[in-house]
Amino acid sequence: MALGEVEAVAKVGKGLFIGGKWVDAAGGKTFSVEDPSTRSPLCEVADATIEDAIAALDAAHGAFEAWAATPPRYRAEIIRRAYEIIMARSEELALIMTLEMGKPLAEARGEVAYAADFFRWFAEEAVRIDGRFYVAPDGNSRVLTMKQPVGVAYMITPWNFPLAMATRKMGPALAAGATVVLKPAEQTPLCSLALASILEEAGLPAGVVNIITTSDPAGVSEALMNDDRLRKVSFTGSTEVGKILAERAGRRLLRVSMELGGNAPFIVFDDADIDLAVGQAMIAKMRNMGEACTSANRFLVDSKIASEFSEKLADRMSHLNVGRGTEADTNVGPLIDQAAIDKVTSLVSDAVANGAAILTGGRANLDDGYFFEPTVIVGTSSNSSISKNEIFGPVASVVTFNDEAEAIDLANGTEYGLVAYVFTNNLSRGLRVIEALKTGMVGLNQGLVSNAAAPFGGVKDSGFGREGGFEGIEEYLDLKYVAINHRA
Ligand code: NAD
Repeated sequence: MALGEVEAVAKVGKGLFIGGKWVDAAGGKTFSVEDPSTRSPLCEVADATIEDAIAALDAAHGAFEAWAATPPRYRAEIIRRAYEIIMARSEELALIMTLEMGKPLAEARGEVAYAADFFRWFAEEAVRIDGRFYVAPDGNSRVLTMKQPVGVAYMITPWNFPLAMATRKMGPALAAGATVVLKPAEQTPLCSLALASILEEAGLPAGVVNIITTSDPAGVSEALMNDDRLRKVSFTGSTEVGKILAERAGRRLLRVSMELGGNAPFIVFDDADIDLAVGQAMIAKMRNMGEACTSANRFLVDSKIASEFSEKLADRMSHLNVGRGTEADTNVGPLIDQAAIDKVTSLVSDAVANGAAILTGGRANLDDGYFFEPTVIVGTSSNSSISKNEIFGPVASVVTFNDEAEAIDLANGTEYGLVAYVFTNNLSRGLRVIEALKTGMVGLNQGLVSNAAAPFGGVKDSGFGREGGFEGIEEYLDLKYVAINHRA
C-alpha cells in the first residue's frame, strides 16, 4: 500500500462505537478486512459478540427519550454539520471506500457526495414533520394526527455502497428522533466506522448512533431482533437474507424496511436515440462495476436496432480500463470477492452454452485482485440463468423483442421489481410502458435514478419501504391518532 493509503486506513477507529466510546469486542476478538484489488489484508476491526450487540442496544435505548425530545432544529443542525464534514473529508473517505470496496476513486467521490446528500436532505426534512387536524364527518369530533419517532432502529447495510447505504438509513432516523444500532457488511466496515467519528465531531450525543462490526451477522441480528427494546429493522442486501429477516421481524411485529435485490430491465425501443441509450447503458451497467441493485441486468432491445446498439455498447465497453481503483486511469475496479467472480463466470458460461455469443470480454483476470473484463453478450435467451439472476458484475446481456407487448412481458417476467429503464422518443409509448412495468422506480431516457430527494425502493421480491425523498422519514415515524371530543 502507498503511504497515503496506510495513513487513511490508520486514521479510522477499528473498535466498536458504543455509547459514544470506542471499545474492544468482548474477548478482544477481531476480523480482517481485505483490499479486493490486491487480495491482501488492509487491517483488523473489532468482531462484536452478542454481548457487545446488546451493549449497543442498551446505549441506543438509553439515549432514545432524550434524543426524541430534542427540538427538530437541534437535530437538523447536527445532521447538517455531519453533511458538511463528510464533504470536507471527501478525499479521505473516497480513498477508504476504494481500498475496502474496490470502486474507482472517481466513483467513490461520487458516492461520498451522494451519501452526504442524504444528510443534507434529511436535515431539511427534520423540521417538517407534520400531522393533521380535521373535522370528523359527523361534525362532532375532531381528528388530530401526530408523528413520533419509532424508537431504536437496527440497520444492516451491504458492501456495495458502504457509505451511502448507512447515511440513507441514518439520515431519516436521526431526523425523526430515533436512535440507531448500525451493522455494516463484514467486507466494508471502514466507511461506517469513519462515519462514527464524523457524527461525534458534528455533536451527536453519545448513544444516539452505535456501530458494531461483526463476523457473525446472523447471531448478532437474531439477538437484537429478539430484544423487546428494538422497534425497527431496516435492511439493505440480498433478497435471500431479507426474507429471513422479515420472517424473524414478524415474530415480534417489528416495523421493517427492506431494500433488496433487483433484476432491472433496460428497454430500448426502435424510436429511441440510440447513442443516448448506449451512453446511459454504460452508467446503468457499469456504475460500481455492475455491483448495484439498480444495475441494468437485462438489455431488452428491439430486434430492428439490436445489432447497432450491441456493437456500439461493445465498442464502449472494450475501451474501459480495468485496474486498481486508486489508479487515475481506472474505469473499472475489482469485484468484491472470489464468490462474485465465480458467480459471474458461471452465468456467462451458462449463457454461452445456451446459444449466446460474446462480443467483448468474458473472462476473469485474477492476477492481482478479483477482476472481470467488461463484457457484452448477445443472443441471450430470456430463460437462461443470466436473465433470471442478479449478475452483480460488469456483464451486459442483450435479449431482443419484436413489439411493445413482448417487451413489457419480458421486463415483468421476474420475481424482482426494483427499477426499470425505458428508452423511447415517443412520450405516449413511454408513459404506457411505464404504467405497465411492475417496479418501484423507472428511469425514462435516463440510466441513473438514485437521488436523495426521491423515494428509492422496490416492489415484489425487491422489498418494501422507501428511502430518501419526502417518504424516507416516515419509515422512522409512528403515527398516532387522537379523537377529540369537541363538545366536552
Ligand atoms: P447480503 O444479504 O449477503 O448482506 C447484506 C448485509 O446483511 C451484510 O451486512 C451482511 O453482514 C448481513 N447479513 C448476511 N446474512 C445475514 C443474516 N443471516 N442475518 C442478518 N444479517 C445478515 O448481501 P450482499 O451480497 O452483501 O449485498 C448485495 C445485495 O444487496 C444484492 O442483492 C443487492 O441487490 C442488494 N442491494 C440492494 C439495494 C437496494 O436498495 N435495494 C442497495 C444495495 C444493494
